[in-house]
Amino acid sequence: MDTPATPPGGPGGGASPRAGAVAGHGTVAGDGVAGPTVGEVLAAAEELWPATLAEQWDAVGLVAGRPSRQVQKILLAVDPTSAVVDEALQWGADLLITHHPLLLRPVTSVAATSFKGDVVHRLIEGGCGLLTVHTNGDSSVGGVSDVLADALGLTDVQPLQQAPAGLDEEGLGRYGELAEVSSLSDFAAKVFSILPAVAGGVRVAGDHDGIVKRVAVCGGAGDSLFEAVRSCSADVFVTADMRHHPASEAREAAANGRPYLIDVSHFGSEWLWLTPASEALDNVLTDQGHQVDIRVSNINTDPWDFVLTPGAG
Ligand SMILES: [Zn+2]
Repeated sequence: MDTPATPPGGPGGGASPRAGAVAGHGTVAGDGVAGPTVGEVLAAAEELWPATLAEQWDAVGLVAGRPSRQVQKILLAVDPTSAVVDEALQWGADLLITHHPLLLRPVTSVAATSFKGDVVHRLIEGGCGLLTVHTNGDSSVGGVSDVLADALGLTDVQPLQQAPAGLDEEGLGRYGELAEVSSLSDFAAKVFSILPAVAGGVRVAGDHDGIVKRVAVCGGAGDSLFEAVRSCSADVFVTADMRHHPASEAREAAANGRPYLIDVSHFGSEWLWLTPASEALDNVLTDQGHQVDIRVSNINTDPWDFVLTPGAG
């Protein structure tokens, strides 16, 4: 697994990701080499992130676009926000791949009077398809949590919760071992350093000097996996969107204070995956004789803008 390129805005303490540079790569289709069709990109995506790995409640796959349309430029992003669509259209992307679904719950209208309908219209009018790679991208080998585990230097990595219809290496979350024991505060600093800078920073529950070696991670919201985290005897759990009650109860039930908890940005924890995902997709398409220009969005779609705290404790 490749480690991701420098995140927008640099490591955790850096400037705002909004001003960051894109880790773009790839080559513009040219020299007489045709880009793939949307359908061929879908087949490549299915090879990397099989739809059978998606959770039952999820909505993955092609949201907008014609399978027969040729693709020369693909943009990857975490969220299909209006700003991300602007970026895709301004660049001339033929396909936008996002981790989060635009349309997760059923809708009865895509009229442009709603922001989601407006996004659908602008994509279609701009000739840009939309593909969702969500929990299939979480569970797959080289998926969101694999990238997070890799960025933290974990070894002997295994899924926290194996995929029902997948390989042994596939499933939600990952756990593994640090090369050397670390204090909780040093490990939290490492987590902070690998993620893109966001206003909310990183929150930690546990003793500064607590010792950690076995680490569980789940990119995105992972507080439904506490049982699996306890089962694997992780010293610390890194995930996003930890709600009060699961977090509080996990701390109350902790054995010897463990697992400690590290709550990170949902966006940041998933953004790391985009560059390795773009490289993997580029490799599959290149192997099939296609040339396509693939980029990762440089837009920070974390919804929070600033935070007030009483200061470091
Ligand atoms: Zn997510």
